Amino acid sequence: MYAPTGVKTSTDYPIPDTMKAWVLGDPGELLFRDKPVPVPKKAEVLVRIDAVAICATDLEIIYHGPPALILGGMPHNKNFTPGHEYMGTVVALGPGVDEYRIGQRVTVEIHAGCGQCKRCREGMYTACHNYGLNYGDVDKGHRANGFTTDGGFCEYQVNNINTLVAIPDAMSDEEATLVVTAGTAMYGLTELGGLVAGESVVVTGPGPIGLLGVAVARALGAHPVILTGTRDNRLKIGRELGADHVVNVRREDAVAAVRRLNGGKGVDYVLECSGAPNAVNEAVRMVNRGGKVCLAAFPHEETPVDIAEIVRNNIYVYGIRGEGKSATHRAEAFMSQKRFDATKIHTHTFPLDDLPTAIRYAKDRVEDAIKVVVKARGVSAAHKVAAE
Ligand SMILES: [Zn+2]
Ligand SMILES: [Zn+2]
Repeated sequence: MYAPTGVKTSTDYPIPDTMKAWVLGDPGELLFRDKPVPVPKKAEVLVRIDAVAICATDLEIIYHGPPALILGGMPHNKNFTPGHEYMGTVVALGPGVDEYRIGQRVTVEIHAGCGQCKRCREGMYTACHNYGLNYGDVDKGHRANGFTTDGGFCEYQVNNINTLVAIPDAMSDEEATLVVTAGTAMYGLTELGGLVAGESVVVTGPGPIGLLGVAVARALGAHPVILTGTRDNRLKIGRELGADHVVNVRREDAVAAVRRLNGGKGVDYVLECSGAPNAVNEAVRMVNRGGKVCLAAFPHEETPVDIAEIVRNNIYVYGIRGEGKSATHRAEAFMSQKRFDATKIHTHTFPLDDLPTAIRYAKDRVEDAIKVVVKARGVSAAHKVAAE
């Protein structure tokens, strides 16, 4: 029975010594294995994972490798468990932890920076200078579960208390997995200045971050909020989440449409979530002079950028990584106040042992899948559950 020294457990939540975990083999290959249940250290807890959402970045890691960095290199064939958008129940406390209690439901953000580098000290822990340095004699204690340390496609995982976000009972497991996605959108808007009430915002790309970017911008009081994309079904969800206008860029030039919808002027902010090769150039043409662009997605290839347009118009361009500056807490606050319904982007749930099917749904957008969730319990085996 699981009883590591210095770790608090409870008979209410018995913990086995081993668990089921998916591990990454060759690119694209996932293997269902037994692993020891990990042990929380100082300032860490053990989370029983109740639900985990699949992210486009998981697919990048599983099929290509980066941005995962395991033992200083590619993540394949290193007994590494991917998955990072999870939630669950605290079931064991590491030494000294009194910030959370056993039985508490939490969702997680990904990055626990090293806590000692310049960026961590500034609150920019998603840009930790010791990213991936958590092994051997270069160990700085950095953790980014599912990227540089084991993640959530398994039954239990350890988390630094700084990565935990308490959630209310009324929030479903599936909804709680979306806090980190909303948190990424919140971080983007935070970096743009945060005070977007009454200011015009364009979100480009109706993926999960883009759709929740619309919801968060709306909740922050932005007006108008304009969403651009290529899929009408997703643009429709964007409208339900608060977009004042949507533009299908297959039918209309995105820059011209944005200017028309904003009274002939450029907007104050663009949150770029499409990763399209020409997205930066379009975004800098959508904003007004002195406007700000936040890049939350990226193309795979290097792409030419019209620098003159940026310089002549004093445009600010930001890149963001993940969900820094505790943005997940602000996103969770909006969600628990029901300021928007993030579950509109959750489309499918599968059992944990059927992860490969879940990944196929996410990757190939089977049945218009947007956010696909896997659960270790409470889902009848081999039967997908379509979200209401
Ligand atoms: Zn993600
Ligand atoms: Zn750091």
